[in-house]
Amino acid sequence: MLKKETDVIIVGSGPGGATVARELARSKAGLGVTLLEHGRDWRTNPLYGTYPGGLMYTDKASFLTTQEGLSIVRPLMVGGATGMYCGCAARPLPWWQTRYGIDLAAYADETTAELNIAPLPAIWRGLASTRLAEAAADLGMDWFPQDKFMQPARAPRGFDCDATCMLGCRCGAKWHAAEFVDEAVAQGLDLWTGAQVLRVLTENGRAAGVWGKWRGQAFAIYAPVVILAAGGIGTPLILQRSGLPAAGQGMTMDTTVMVYGHAPYKGIGHEPPMTWSYADDDLGVLYSTLIDPWLNYPIVALRKGPAYPLTWRRWGHTLGVMIKLKDEISGFVQAKKRGFIVSKGLTTQDRTRLTAAEMVASRILRQAGCHPDTIFTTPLRGTHPSGTVRIGRMLTTDLETEIENLYVCDASVFPEALARPTVLTIITLAKRLSDHLLHHGFTAS
Ligand SMILES: Cc1cc2nc3c(=O)[nH]c(=O)nc-3n(C[C@H](O)[C@H](O)[C@H](O)COP(=O)(O)OP(=O)(O)OC[C@H]3O[C@@H](n4cnc5c(N)ncnc54)[C@H](O)[C@@H]3O)c2cc1C
Repeated sequence: MLKKETDVIIVGSGPGGATVARELARSKAGLGVTLLEHGRDWRTNPLYGTYPGGLMYTDKASFLTTQEGLSIVRPLMVGGATGMYCGCAARPLPWWQTRYGIDLAAYADETTAELNIAPLPAIWRGLASTRLAEAAADLGMDWFPQDKFMQPARAPRGFDCDATCMLGCRCGAKWHAAEFVDEAVAQGLDLWTGAQVLRVLTENGRAAGVWGKWRGQAFAIYAPVVILAAGGIGTPLILQRSGLPAAGQGMTMDTTVMVYGHAPYKGIGHEPPMTWSYADDDLGVLYSTLIDPWLNYPIVALRKGPAYPLTWRRWGHTLGVMIKLKDEISGFVQAKKRGFIVSKGLTTQDRTRLTAAEMVASRILRQAGCHPDTIFTTPLRGTHPSGTVRIGRMLTTDLETEIENLYVCDASVFPEALARPTVLTIITLAKRLSDHLLHHGFTAS
């Protein structure tokens, strides 16, 4: 058994874990910080950002589904799901402050300035995507250029972004949480890749370390502070195995569909994803411009029905309106002897609102010139598993569990669905947690 002692253990290197790791490592507190990540660093691998790569670094090769058939994309790699995200940013919504007393505004300002978050310049927003936004404006909807963690100037060999952006960023324009991990490593962080944490160790009701497997070998790492940031599925599984069965009961997903239509002009497939958005918070829906990458399209279409893959030939002329739903808390994540199961579908209320949103998307596509007979909605999917260890139910507003010094800092802490891009909110929560820890008497061992 490998053994080690340190001051702080962080589990998972998505935006939550990477941000806490970076904030603690660069603080003047002189803390020993160990970051344990299940996946590996794919950034320099030739397969990163390709179709085979996308199968290799996602859980169950992207074929993970809930019992109800909703498909979940769950990247497992250094940087977590930011290795495959669309690079969209949304400020934490005002309800964090008004409903939960959590003020994230200053952290959002700091992160926006630090990472240059802004919409893409108009020339990069895509002709067809912009046409879709204009069609929506004709119908009275004020679509806005979507804020992005993406700057064409960051791409050393030129900005080359299209629908395959979701497989991983090959041009380098998109910020990746692994960059925070790099900074932390430069400040002395001990990063273990290929390390799967299975349980939290406790002593007298306090966190004492973690136990898991590293490349087939058991390890135990001891520390007085443990932060779980293994994501909306990974974190509740660890907590269940550590004796907290309430973790994973109920979840949010920002459940998503695309509504596609065939235009008499070039579609949005070769344009950056999600350059324009529109939020209808009364309905609880975010709309954006988005289409599946070329080779993913027939697989998604086949899930819809045997005739739909035939629409693949018109991928180059397809327009897509993505609908993200502020879904109700429902379903569960449950650890099994081998692996886990997820239950998540739509509640009656979710379904009613989704139907209303699909009608709006369909009107926009018709207004943009799509023939009504070509318009269809894809099956349900989820890329934001969250709300499985909710603030208020299992966590204090300082993100501490009932086990002293055991914290959670990732999408699982959301008390309700965001129906927005999650990453900026997670970064702000992680900065706030780091401040809390650093101001509450951390001392190096
Ligand atoms: C295709 C796609 C597009 C998206 N687009 C956007 C977007 O444009 N904007 C946006 O804001 N959000 C987007 N998201 C969502 C966003 O990326 C995630 O919600 C966010 O990354 C979640 O952060 P996290 O810190 O909770 O966990 P994750 O990013 O999921 O990271 C968790 C990490 O923990 C590791 N881990 C899991 N279990 C263990 C364990 N037992 N031991 C050790 N390590 C473990 C995993 O390997 C992973 O690296 C997208 C997601 C996907 C999949």
